[in-house]
Amino acid sequence: MNGPFAKKVALVTGAGSGIGEACAKTLAARGAQVVVADIDVGRAQRVVGEIKAAGGAAAAIAADVAHPASVEALVQFVTRTYGGLDVAVNNAGIGGELNPAGSYSVDGWDRVIKVNLNGVFYCMRSEIPAMLARGGGVIVNMASILGSVGFANSAAYVAAKHGLLGLTKTAALEYATQGIRVTSVGPGFIATPLLDILDAPTKEAIAALHPMKRLGRSEEVAALVCFLASDEASFITGSYHVVDGGYTAQ
Ligand code: NAP
Repeated sequence: MNGPFAKKVALVTGAGSGIGEACAKTLAARGAQVVVADIDVGRAQRVVGEIKAAGGAAAAIAADVAHPASVEALVQFVTRTYGGLDVAVNNAGIGGELNPAGSYSVDGWDRVIKVNLNGVFYCMRSEIPAMLARGGGVIVNMASILGSVGFANSAAYVAAKHGLLGLTKTAALEYATQGIRVTSVGPGFIATPLLDILDAPTKEAIAALHPMKRLGRSEEVAALVCFLASDEASFITGSYHVVDGGYTAQ
């Protein structure tokens, strides 16, 4: 397919649903060959089927970002299948337990940190050597507005997303002269299955916290991710970009 990502190879984690699915589909529609990775390979295969039906190129693979060996195998699959890696969207994440810090379980804390923070680190440490071998690349890490502000009952999630911003800045500094740009994205609350643990009145109350008085759409996040991953963003690195209907402007 033609487009700004023609001949580029892109990897999206957690791409079997929600924001990751939208990122994979938008990158493919703009010409990228996309590896659709998810802990649930059936979901990844569904997304790949839809991309191919729309004329795009994609491959599905099961990968659990909480395990470094799984991530290493994932990046090897990408380079073996498509010959290299140009764009990585480290998107996989979970919502986790909802409890105040004083009663948050240690297991719940460990699980969220393992997937949402360690998982992105594992991805970056495998992706960066593959990108260096190619002469450069772009990494977009999926943070949240909760990477810059707190949110009651979500200590582990908020801590992990704040950590992602530091990880992003540091890697950006380390590879700024080697052709690798690293940025992070901060969506407000987006209508995806991640919010399915909330009942309808809670979802409405959360939507009302955004000045635009609605939840965001996955495609609105994907549009920002694709801009950051494109050559149009060639002087952008180390930075954090919100797409939040005004939430953090308040
Ligand atoms: P989603 O619809 O639940 O999609 C996330 C996908 O990642 C799911 O298929 C999920 O599988 C998968 N996944 C979970 N753990 C994984 C692992 N260890 N390895 C690989 N894949 C894994 O969620 P989403 O709303 O699109 O969220 C995507 C990212 O955006 C997350 O990092 C989230 O924190 C961030 N974000 C979301 C919102 C929002 O309001 N939705 C706002 C800001 C930021 P399972 O369903 O089996 O867990």
